[in-house]
Amino acid sequence: MSRIRARFWDPAGARYGVPTYPWRMAPPHLLTMRQLAAEGLRPGGQGVQAQVLWASRRYRARGGVRAAYLYDVRFALPKRTATPAQRAALAKANAARRTCPVCERDAGYVLPRHLGTCLDCAQEAAA
Ligand SMILES: [Zn+2]
Repeated sequence: MSRIRARFWDPAGARYGVPTYPWRMAPPHLLTMRQLAAEGLRPGGQGVQAQVLWASRRYRARGGVRAAYLYDVRFALPKRTATPAQRAALAKANAARRTCPVCERDAGYVLPRHLGTCLDCAQEAAA
C-alpha cells in the first residue's frame, strides 16, 4: 500500500473517529447515500458508519481532503414511496405555485416570487 493510501487507512477508526478507508478501498457493504439510492435503499436512521477520504487538489478548503460518508447496507431500509394521498397533496401544492392570483390561470410555470403573478399580468401591471 502506498504511503498516500496508508494515510487514510484506518478501518478501526482509531485516528479519525469513524472507520476510514482510502479511495476504492471500502468494503462492499458500505455504500454512499447515492449508491444506496441507486439500489432503492435509504440509510434508515443509521448514522454515518464509515468514511472514504481522498486527497483532492481541487478542494483546498479542508486541507485538500475530501470525504464521502458511508452507510451500512445491512441497516438500510427500502426507500419510501409516496402514498397516493401524499402525491395528490404535492400536485395540489405545485399547482398552487403555478396559479396566478390575478388572472387565476395556471401559468404553466412556477410564478416568480418577486412578481407574485404570472409574467403576463406583471407586464400589464408595469404598462
Ligand atoms: Zn396572471
